Amino acid sequence: MRCEKCDTEMVLAELFGAGYPTSMFVRAKKKGFFETEKRSGIKCFVCPECGKIELYVEEPQKFKG
Ligand SMILES: [Zn+2]
Repeated sequence: MRCEKCDTEMVLAELFGAGYPTSMFVRAKKKGFFETEKRSGIKCFVCPECGKIELYVEEPQKFKG
């Protein structure tokens, strides 16, 4: 993946929460008690040139519907 700002090849990195040594994730939950929570890990790309960060969920299909 190339940086959309400066066209440098971006580097895959890990995103960590402050002070907590575990990878971050996103989650979404619909209203309603019986709906299951949707979770996915996060892919983080860093541009080593300008410092831009792009975030992607690892399993976007989980959030459909
Ligand atoms: Zn860049």
